[in-house]
Amino acid sequence: MRAVSRRRVEPALESSADPIVMARGVRKSFDRAEVLHGIDFTVRSGEVSCIIGASGSGKSTFLRCINGLERIDGGELVVAGSHVGYTLREGRLHEWNPREMARFRQRIGMVFQQFNLFGHMTAAENVSCAAVKVRRMSKAAAAARTAKLLDEVGLSSHAGKYPHQLSGGQQQRVAIARALAMDPELLLFDEPTSALDPELVDEVLSVMKSLAATGMTMVVVTHEIGFAREVADTVVYLDDGLVVEWGPPQQLITNPTHARTQAFLSKVL
Ligand code: ADP
Ligand code: MG
Repeated sequence: MRAVSRRRVEPALESSADPIVMARGVRKSFDRAEVLHGIDFTVRSGEVSCIIGASGSGKSTFLRCINGLERIDGGELVVAGSHVGYTLREGRLHEWNPREMARFRQRIGMVFQQFNLFGHMTAAENVSCAAVKVRRMSKAAAAARTAKLLDEVGLSSHAGKYPHQLSGGQQQRVAIARALAMDPELLLFDEPTSALDPELVDEVLSVMKSLAATGMTMVVVTHEIGFAREVADTVVYLDDGLVVEWGPPQQLITNPTHARTQAFLSKVL
């Protein structure tokens, strides 16, 4: 793994840097039942934002909106310079066609709770297939990049193994390497350690920490409050489809001001 010191954005520059994710009043309904009631959320380049909140509060739905897997019903959502799902042309909003959506998604990496590796491919094939198919890299270039990525997640010696031959923690590290193979501008994590046996959680969190240290922009839905405290620039507490409280971890985790944040933290800490 690389040991690179964290590239932190100076506060003075921070306010002028373009956000990678900018959500204003984002609303989302399923069958007329609104589950996101107007989310405001910002992540700037190089920042790590952790989203915490009870089950059913809308965390996964919001992540899925960020990478275009769900379409928002109201508000504004700008990700990596694009209004997700739309292009403004000649003063009118045009909905993306599937190709435009696919191109957008290639720029956003996502890591899921259940790893979602291809079971019939080795670790190396899982990592390289996106680079070969989507980035149109030569096989040799993809192989070199795959070797480097597997080394970064500490799995060089497991390149030829299939998912069923790997532990959950190793599978999740392959999934992270696969997401990185696309050179994403933003990495989304949806409870990446929730499906793991407790003794395997740290190896995944430590890979995520080194990734944060390289300056990768990350949005992490997690119940790992220790990770949020240590790594996040901003922590967001989501409750019933609304951001109740946000701030640096020293404030939100150590000193939450809202009764609902306090009640949630007292349950998970
Ligand atoms: P979290 O990730 O915080 O546990 P979710 O975003 O998964 O919460 O879910 C928020 C709410 O939206 C829940 O009430 C859930 O049942 C509902 N929901 C999520 N996805 C769908 C869907 N595809 N269709 C209908 N309801 C959904
Ligand atoms: Mg979820």
